[in-house]
Amino acid sequence: MTTPALTTHPARLLAANGVRTAAALAVLLVAVAILVWVFGRTGERIAVLMCVNVSAVAALAIFCGNTGIVSFGHGAFMTVGAYLSGILTMPAALQRSALPELPIWLAGHELAVWSALPFVALAGLALALLTGSAIARLVGASATISTLGLLIIVHSIAISAREITRGSQTFYGVPRITDLTFVLVAAVMFILIARMFRESRWGLFARAVRDDEDAATALGIAPRRARLVAWTLSGALATVAGALYGHILGAFSPASFYLGLVFAQVVMMIVGGMASVGGAVVGVIAVTLLQNSVRNLEGGATVLGISLPEVFGLTTIALGLAILLVIWLRPQGLVGGFEIGPNADAPFLPGSKRETQPAAIPAPAETTEMVADGLAKSFAGVVAVDDMSFSAPTGTITGLIGPNGAGKSTLINLMTRQYDADKGVARIGTSDLTKLPRHAIIRQKVARSFQNLRLFNGLTAYENVFVAALAAGHSRREAHRITLRELMAFDLGSIAAMRAENLPYGARKRLEIARALAQDPVILLLDEPAAGMNPAETDDLADRLDVIAQERNIGVLLIDHDLKFVNRLSSRIVVMNRGQKIAEGTPEEVRADGRVIEAYIGRGRTARAAQSNQHSSDRPDPTEGVLA
Ligand code: ADP
Ligand code: MG
Repeated sequence: MTTPALTTHPARLLAANGVRTAAALAVLLVAVAILVWVFGRTGERIAVLMCVNVSAVAALAIFCGNTGIVSFGHGAFMTVGAYLSGILTMPAALQRSALPELPIWLAGHELAVWSALPFVALAGLALALLTGSAIARLVGASATISTLGLLIIVHSIAISAREITRGSQTFYGVPRITDLTFVLVAAVMFILIARMFRESRWGLFARAVRDDEDAATALGIAPRRARLVAWTLSGALATVAGALYGHILGAFSPASFYLGLVFAQVVMMIVGGMASVGGAVVGVIAVTLLQNSVRNLEGGATVLGISLPEVFGLTTIALGLAILLVIWLRPQGLVGGFEIGPNADAPFLPGSKRETQPAAIPAPAETTEMVADGLAKSFAGVVAVDDMSFSAPTGTITGLIGPNGAGKSTLINLMTRQYDADKGVARIGTSDLTKLPRHAIIRQKVARSFQNLRLFNGLTAYENVFVAALAAGHSRREAHRITLRELMAFDLGSIAAMRAENLPYGARKRLEIARALAQDPVILLLDEPAAGMNPAETDDLADRLDVIAQERNIGVLLIDHDLKFVNRLSSRIVVMNRGQKIAEGTPEEVRADGRVIEAYIGRGRTARAAQSNQHSSDRPDPTEGVLA
C-alpha cells in the first residue's frame, strides 16, 4: 500500500493563519483610521472607546470562545481593575480628600498608568484563580449562571466597600487616558495574546473539551484544568481591560461595570462570532457603530422629515435586536465559520515552520497484552456486561463481535473508565486500569475510538490529530511531525485544514483513528470503525489497519458489524451475546460454532439454514451475509 503525499503543504497552513491574524488587525486599524479622519475629535473619542472594548471583548472571548461557555462575570474583573488602577494612579492630594479612609497600604502610590497595570493583572490573576477553581467545574448554563453570580457578588462588594470605592457614589480623580496610540497598542496586544492562546496547547485543549468533553478526556486532557487555564488568562486580561476602561472614563461608579456594560460586551462578542479572534474585532466595531448611531436618535431626531419621539433606552433595545437577529440568521456570528478558501482555517504553529518532515513510525511497542478479568456492569438492573474475561495481545488484531446490544461498547467503556465497573479488572501488563482516573488511561498507552463519531467538530482535521499528540505529552514540534505522519497514513493530507464537521463521513471515521494513533498507543480499541463505510472504503481501511498493527506491534481490539472485515483482519475473535462471552477462537472456529450462529440469527432459522444447506450446496449459505 502506498501512502499518498500530503497535498496541503504545512507552510501553506501556517501562512493562512498569519493571514487571519493580520486581517483582524487590519480591520481594526482601518476602522480607527476612518473614524479619526472622517469624524475628527468625536471620531477619536469613539476610536479610543472602541480599542478598549476590543481589549475587553478579546479577553472575554479567551474564555467564552475556547470553552464555549458564555460569561456574564467579566464585569467583576473589570470592576476590580478599574478601581485598583484608579487608586494606584490617583494624585495623592486628591486621594486624601476623595478617599480619606483608604487602607494605608493602598494609599499614596501615584503610579503611572502603565506601571500600575502589572499589579492590576496580578490582582486579576488571583481573583480568577480563586473563582475559577469553582467555575471550571461547571459547564453550560450552570457555568454561565455562576459567572453571573460572580458579577453580582463583586458588584455588591464594590458598593459596600465605601472606604475604597466611595460606594455607589462617583469615584473620581482617576487619571484619564485620551491617547489613542496607547489604547490601540493595547488592543493589538490583546488580539495577539488571544490569537496565540487559541493555538496554544491549553487553548487547543480547551477547544477540544468544548467540542466533546468525553473524547477529550479519553485523550488524557483534564477538562477542568483546561477551563481553569482559559478562565485565569481571560480574567487577568479582563482586569487590565477594566483598568483601561476606568482610565478613559475618569470618573465612574460600580454601575459603570454592571449589567449594561456586560450585556454590551457579550453582544459584541456574539455578534462578531465568539469562536474566532477576528469575531471580537468585527463585533466591537459593528456594535460600537450601532450604539453611536442609535444614541443620536435616543433624544429624538428628525429622519427623512419625520420627527421621532425621545425613546429612553433605545441603545439597549438596539443591542437586544442585534443579538436576536444574529442568533437567528447567523448563529456563528458575523465572522464565525467564515473560511476564505477550503484551506483557510488552518493551524498556527509558532516554532515549527520549517518542520515538514513527518515523524518516523514509532519503534514497535513492547510485547504485552490487555486483559479483562471478570468485568461486569449493569445499568439500572439491565445487565450490559456480565463476567467478561479475555485478552488482546500486542502485534495482532483481536475481533470482538456480537449482535446489537451484546455489550461490546460497554466493555470498551469499562476498560477506558468511561464507566466504573461493578466488578472485575482491566489490566495492561501489570497495571490496573480500573483504578485510574479517566484522563490517566492514555499514560498506560491505551487509546480508543468511539462508536458514534466523537471528533472535535470545531477543530480542523489537523488540529484534531495535533491536540491528541500534545495531550500524549509531546512537544509542539514533535506533535506536529506525528500529526503529519498520521494524516498521511490515513490519506487525510488534502483536507488537513478543513474543520472536522465539514469532512465527508469516511474521512471523519479515518480521522478518529488517526487521532487515536497520534497518541502512540500500545493497545488501540476501535468501536465499529467501518460502520457506515462503503465496501471500497472498508477495504482501504482494512489495508491501513493491517499495516499499522504489524509495523508498530500494536494490539488492536476491533469491534465491527461487518464480519467480513473483522474476519479478514483478526487472528482471534471473541463473541459476545447478552453481556457474556459465548465463543472465542480463530475466525474459522468461531464461524463453525453453533452458539454463534444461534446468537446471530436465532434458533429456528439456524435449523432451516442447516437444512437448506444439505439440500443444495450451491445455494448461498444464509449465514454467509452475517458470518462470512
Ligand atoms: P453493543 O455495543 O454490543 O451493541 P452496548 O454495550 O452498547 O452493546 O449495550 C449493551 C446493553 O447495555 C444494551 O442493552 C444497552 O441498552 C445497555 N446500555 C449501554 N449503555 C447504557 C447506558 N449508558 N445506560 C443504560 N443502558 C445502557
Ligand atoms: Mg456498540
